[in-house]
This record gives sequence, C-alpha cells and structure tokens, in this order.
Amino acid sequence: PVVTRFAPSPTGFLHIGGARTALFNWLYAKHHKGKMLLRIEDTDRERSTEAAVEAIFDGLRWLGLDWDGDAIRQFSRAGRHQEVAETLLAQGKAYYCYATPQELEAMREQARAEGRPMRYDGRWRDRGPSEAPADVRPVIRLKAPQTGETAIDDLVQGRVSWQNENLDDLVLLRSDGTPTYMLAVVVDDHDMSVTHIIRGDDHLTNAARQKHIYDALGWPVPAMAHIPLIHGPDGAKLSKRHGALGVDAYRAMGYLPGALRNYLVRLGWSHGDQEIFSTEEMIAAFSLENVGRSPARFDFAKLENLNGHYMRAADDAELVAAAERILPEVGPARGLPDALDAVTRDKLLTAMPGLKERARTLVELIESAYFIFAARPLALDDKALGLLGNGGRERLALVAEKLAAAGEWTPETTENVVRETASEAGVKLGQIAQPLRAALTGRATSPGLFDVMAVLGREESLARIRDQLA
Ligand code: GLU
Repeated sequence: PVVTRFAPSPTGFLHIGGARTALFNWLYAKHHKGKMLLRIEDTDRERSTEAAVEAIFDGLRWLGLDWDGDAIRQFSRAGRHQEVAETLLAQGKAYYCYATPQELEAMREQARAEGRPMRYDGRWRDRGPSEAPADVRPVIRLKAPQTGETAIDDLVQGRVSWQNENLDDLVLLRSDGTPTYMLAVVVDDHDMSVTHIIRGDDHLTNAARQKHIYDALGWPVPAMAHIPLIHGPDGAKLSKRHGALGVDAYRAMGYLPGALRNYLVRLGWSHGDQEIFSTEEMIAAFSLENVGRSPARFDFAKLENLNGHYMRAADDAELVAAAERILPEVGPARGLPDALDAVTRDKLLTAMPGLKERARTLVELIESAYFIFAARPLALDDKALGLLGNGGRERLALVAEKLAAAGEWTPETTENVVRETASEAGVKLGQIAQPLRAALTGRATSPGLFDVMAVLGREESLARIRDQLA
C-alpha cells in the first residue's frame, strides 16, 4: 500500500509551495487508495513555534487536505534517532569525530579557496577514541562510501547520480546528542513505512546523503519524487510580491479553497489541456509521470480567473457563509462590518446571484456588496458625489417622485419607471440611472441597479434617495 507524507518544518506559515507539496502527496495517496501522513519537523527548537504548527494544521484543513492518523512530532522521536546512531556506531558504520571548530573552519577555508563546497576530510574515520582530545565533545558521523557513485531513480527527475568522492561523511548526531535533519528524516520515513517521498527539488542533494544512511542501515529506500519549485512570473525564485505567501494570506485575499487547490494542482502537473478539475477528477487523473521537470510559474491573473469560475459555480448560501468567515479579517479595513446581522445576511443572499457574476474573489464580492452593509446616511465616494452635481440631483428628484408612486417593486417595474423618466425628460438612461445609483449605493459602479433596488426594498431605497435630496 502507498504511504506518502508531508513533512513541513514549523518555522513560519504554511507557504504556497508547501501547500502544493502537501496536495501532491495527498493526491498520490488518494489515487492509490493509500495514506498520507503528516510529520511536523520540529527538531530546530530555536525556530519552531506552536503558532506555526497551528498554521500548518489550519492551512491543510482549509484546503481540505486531511492526513491519516495523528500528526507526528519529529522532536518527540529524538531518543529513537539516537538509538539508530548508536547502532551504526556499534556496527562500525559510523564513528566519533573530534574535529575542532578550528579544524572544520580550516577545511571550509580551503573549500572556499578552491571554489567548491565544504567537504569534511574524514580525519577521524579510522582513529579510535583512545586518541580523542579530552576537551572536545564528539559528533557521530556516517562512514559514507568514498568511491563509486550514488544514484536515485527519481520519479520526476529521472536517474540522478553523484560521485561519492564529492559527498563527505555526514553528521548523524551533534555533539549535544541531538539528531541531524538527515538522520531524523530517514529514521522517521522508515519507521512510518513511507513508500513514496514527494517533496521540493531543493531536497534533491539531500536524497543522495539520505541514501547513504538507508544503505548503511540495510533499509529499503522509498521511491522519491522531487518536484520543481514554484517560480515567479519572471522565472525567478518566487517572491512575496509574486505569491510567496502563506495559505492564510490567500484566504484573506478572498480565494476559495477549492479554487486554490485546483490552481495548485496545475502548477507543475498537467492532464492534457484540462484546467478545471473536481476533487474526484483530480484524484483519478493524478500521476507523477505528468509532473513537469521545469519550474512552474505562479500567475495571479490565472488564479483570479479560476477563482471567479468557482465563485460563479458556487451555491449562494455557501458564498454567504464564506464571505462571513473572512469578514472579521477583511471587513474593518475596508470600512465594512466584521460580522453580519440576520437582515444583512438575508440581503446578501438575495443579492448573491448578481454579486457572484462580477466578482473574482470574495473580497471583491464583499466590496461590491457595500450598498448592503452601508448605513444611512450613506457616505458617498467622490465619483458618486460627482454624479449628483451638474443637474444630477434634479434628475434624481424627478425619478424619486415616480418611484414613490410606483405600486409594486420588482426589477421590472423599477426599470420601467427609470426608462420612462429618462424618455419623458429627453435624457439618456444613464443620466437618470447614475445619480440614482450614487444615492442608493454611494458608488459610481455597483451590481445591476434594479437588482440593488430589489435587494434594498422600497422603503430603504426611497429613504436613501431622500437623504441625498434633503
Ligand atoms: N522539513 C523539510 C522542509 O520543510 C522537508 C523534509 C522532507 O520532505 O524530506 O523543507
């Protein structure tokens, strides 16, 4: 059975690249009716925080990426990591290294001078502890192969190989007894019965070193798939401005989790030219063979369009609920409330068919629903105020009288009134409609005017008009 894992380090938010890695692991597991495990790699005690752990849980849940069983905390397994290091030591496959910081610095210096990466020279590989200096606490290093090559048949990158002479004897346990990332990952993946390691290709060279550890332990190496990182639209490393943000930021920008997930699956993976996938379709179609080898480029415009598509297809009541959930985060900053009362919620629901046609994000939707949230007397923006100048207020008075006299209020009857008023006055429709829009919504643009009137109702609409005529 397939077992994948997502292994984030809780040192910051769940960033967008991590979310995509989680998605690929989740899809691969679901496709093969296997499991996806979650391992929190919190061995860096300085940089790991509980808030970051929560952000990872929240982000995954929001995206609908569930994991099997309880999340495993890597740090809680430090005893097991030590035990494995001791075993390798006892078998002569690892050794104590007493190289001093000064000696290591000299090796680093030499590597710099020769323009190559630092390589520990193995000076303690064949020396016994009897030679150990009294004042140095040793690290434990792996006796890695010194000749030949190490190769990985990566499911995305193909065969990748390294000359062993370029890889040194890596540290397994630090001098304070804590395990290194390299050791912890191997031991945990083995103990968790992980069959497939799917992660960013920034970990590709780690794979060679990890293979050395697997080989020393006589453990099978899981299948590996190193996926290209996400780049910005300019092809450079993804920057904040171009989308290198936490999943929570995407939520606050008003994206729907289903849309973001659909967008992420297409970042680096393709299935013919299909762009839109239901969850079931995604699971059925996903394969590592169709993950590309070159970095995907993040494109906000494409994400917005896809989100617009998901919004139009979404159920109205669900959109109201989604808008309500982000209102505390996005409302106050825009002069809007942070919650909905029952009446406003009803109005929002009534207006939703018109609102969702136009908005590409929930934030745009909430902004265009300003007329629903606004309280009398409305604060008109400058453009709306402009529409009431130059005779606009007089034209508003004309239509106000007729609207007040109209019997039933439906989008049809109010439209007729506005059209009649315009033709009787001999002006274009917009010259009546725009001042009316300004009075009703406080803005120069809004959802369809007659829908706005239907949502607000007769009483509120007439009151808003009166406010501007007073
Ligand atoms: N903890 C590592 C990271 O967040 C991932 C390790 C792995 O997937 O093997 O980059």
